[in-house]
Amino acid sequence: MTKHIFVTGGVVSSLGKGLTSASIGMLLERRGLRVRMQKMDPYINVDPGTMSPYQHGEVYVLDDGAETDLDLGHYERFTHAPLNKDCNYTTGKIYLSVIEKERRGDYRGKTVQVIPHITDEIKSCIKKLVAPDVDVVITEIGGTVGDIEGMPYYEAIRQYALDVGRHNCLFVHLTLVPYLKAAGELKTKPTQRSVRDLREIGIQPDVLICRTEKEIPKDECEKIALFCNVEREAVIEERDKEFSIYEVPLSLADNKLDALIVDKLGLTQATPLVMDDWRAMIERMRAPAHEVTIGFVGKYVKHRDAYKSVYESLDHAGIFHNAKVRVMRIESDKLAVDGVEKALAGVDGLLIPGGFDKRGIEGKIAAIKFARETGLPFFGICLGLQCATIEFARHVVGLPEANSTEFNKSTPHPVVCLLEEQQTVTTLGGTQRLGAYPCHLVPGTKARAAFGVDVISERHRHRYEVNNHFRDLLASRGMVFSGASPDGSLVEAIELPDHPWFVGVQSHPEFLSKPTEPHPLFRDFIGASLERRRAKKTEAAARERVAVGV
Ligand code: GLN
Repeated sequence: MTKHIFVTGGVVSSLGKGLTSASIGMLLERRGLRVRMQKMDPYINVDPGTMSPYQHGEVYVLDDGAETDLDLGHYERFTHAPLNKDCNYTTGKIYLSVIEKERRGDYRGKTVQVIPHITDEIKSCIKKLVAPDVDVVITEIGGTVGDIEGMPYYEAIRQYALDVGRHNCLFVHLTLVPYLKAAGELKTKPTQRSVRDLREIGIQPDVLICRTEKEIPKDECEKIALFCNVEREAVIEERDKEFSIYEVPLSLADNKLDALIVDKLGLTQATPLVMDDWRAMIERMRAPAHEVTIGFVGKYVKHRDAYKSVYESLDHAGIFHNAKVRVMRIESDKLAVDGVEKALAGVDGLLIPGGFDKRGIEGKIAAIKFARETGLPFFGICLGLQCATIEFARHVVGLPEANSTEFNKSTPHPVVCLLEEQQTVTTLGGTQRLGAYPCHLVPGTKARAAFGVDVISERHRHRYEVNNHFRDLLASRGMVFSGASPDGSLVEAIELPDHPWFVGVQSHPEFLSKPTEPHPLFRDFIGASLERRRAKKTEAAARERVAVGV
C-alpha cells in the first residue's frame, strides 16, 4: 500500500521546503523505498512557463515537456523518482480541469464549488501517483499555512488522510525558529502559531522540522513539542547550511528523520540507510584540489534562482574534477561590446545560458566572438547556441547583419529562424518545442566524445532553430553540426573543431545533471576550462622565468 507524506510550510516562505522534501525523498530512497515526488503550487498561472524569471526563477522542464516549478529540479537532483506532468499542479491547472468538466456537463447540473469539487480534483491529482510499485508519495504544498490561496490544498490533504486512513499519512511541517539577536534567544512562538493555524484547519502535524541558524536547546525542543502537540522525537532541527545544499539530507539523517518516518508510517520493508558515498562527496567538495572561474553572461544574473539548474550543473562538474567552480556573473545588457576583453579577463571559460528576447544579445555575441578568437572554452545553451551561430555568420562568414528573426524580423540573413511548427502558434503557454527529443551525434566530434554514444535524449524549450538554408554556408567556413534530430532537419549541436572547446546545444543539459552524475557536456566544459587555466599558469611561469633570466 502506498503511504503519503505531506510537506507544508509555516511562518515565512523561502524556508527551503523543496530542498527538505527532496532530502526526505532521498533518505527514503536510500532506505530502499520507492518514492514519487509532487508539488502543489497555489498560484493561478496554469504553469510557470509564462512567468518572468524575476517572479518565479527558473522554469524546470521535464521529459514529457511539462514546464514546472524549480523545486522539481531539487527532486531530480536528490532522487531517482520519475517525474512527469502529474508531479506539479497549480491552482490554475486544477481550476482549468474543473471548468472543462463543468463545460462538458460532467457535474450533471450541480453547483460547482471549492468543496467538494476543487478539493476532489486535488485529491485525484495526489492519487495519480499511487501505484503498486510506489511505497511513498511525497506531496509538497507550496506557500505558507494561512495563505488564502492555499486553503483548498490543506482541506484536500486533510480529507485525503481520512479517505486513506490517517496512519497511512504523515504530515510534516517545516517551520522557522528565529534567533533574536537583541534578546540573545531563539523564539518558538512563530512555530507555535503556525502549528495552531494548521490545527485550526484540522491538520495535526506529526513531524516538525525547525529551520534555525543556531542549535535549538533541548528544553526549547521540549517546549515546541508540548505546545504543538507533537512527540519530542518528532521535533527535528534543520540548521542553516552555509557550505552546500547537499548537506541538508546528511543533517536530517544525523537527526534521525528517516528512522522517524519509517517508524511512523510502518515502512517495515525499509533497509538500513546508506549515505557513505554522499558523505564522501561532501568531504571532497570541502577540499577541492583545483579552482576554475567561469564567465556567465545572462540577462537575469542578479536573480540566483533564474539559472538554478545551470549553476547546480556547474557545481556537479566541479565535484567530478575535484575543483571549485567560481561563477563570474555578468549582466549581458551591461556588457559593452567593446568592454568584453576586460570583463572576461580573469575567466577560464564562457557560458551563455538560455534566454528570450533581444535585450543583452549584442553583449553575448561580443563575448562569444572573444571566446572564439582567443581559444577560451565556450559552452552555449539554447539561446547560447543561437548567438554563437549569429556571431559566426557575422564575423567568419561575413554577413554583418546576420541575426535571429526573434531579434530582428527583417534581417537579410536570418541564420536563426522560427521552427516550422511554430509559424502558426499564437498563444504563449505550453506552446514551445518542449521536452525530450532524440539527437544523433556525429562521430569524431567533441559532443560525441562527451556522451560516448551515438544517440542521446535531451530536454528542450525553444521556438527558434538554426536556419537550414544557411547550414552549407556556415559549414563551408568551418562550423560543424555535431548533432541533429533523427531526420536531420533540426540542428541540435554545433562546434568548432579548431578551437579547444567550443560547443553549443539547442537543448537544456542542465535538466539532466546530478551531483554524483554530472552531465557529460558540463563535465567536459569544466575539464577544458581547467586545462586552459593550467596552460595559462604554465605560460605565465615560463614568462616569469624569461623575465628573471633563468
Ligand atoms: N529564445 C530562443 C528560442 O525560443 C531560445 C530559447 C531558450 O534559450 N530556452 O528559441
